[in-house]
Amino acid sequence: MQEKPYFCPNCRSNRVKFSVITSYSQSFMKDAFSGDFTEFQDPDVIPEPEPTIQCLICNFSSNEMRFIKQAEREPRVNSPTTSFS
Ligand SMILES: [Zn+2]
Repeated sequence: MQEKPYFCPNCRSNRVKFSVITSYSQSFMKDAFSGDFTEFQDPDVIPEPEPTIQCLICNFSSNEMRFIKQAEREPRVNSPTTSFS
C-alpha cells in the first residue's frame, strides 16, 4: 500500500478509516461419499497487483488507486468549504 492520502470517492467524507481486503486461497480435501472435510491446507495469500481498499464509513471498496486519485483531485484543505459544484 502506498503512503499517500486516501479519500473515499463514494461517500467523499472519509480520509482516515479504511481496511484492506486480502484474498486467500485455502485448499481442502473432501470425502467423496459423505462430503466430510478430510484435510485443510494452510491458507495462501493471493498476490494482487494492487490492494483493494474499503471505506469503513460507507463500505465502498475499490482499487487503491481510486482512493489516491480522489484525494489528489480533492486535497485536504483547512477551509471547510471545498465544494466545486
Ligand atoms: Zn466512503
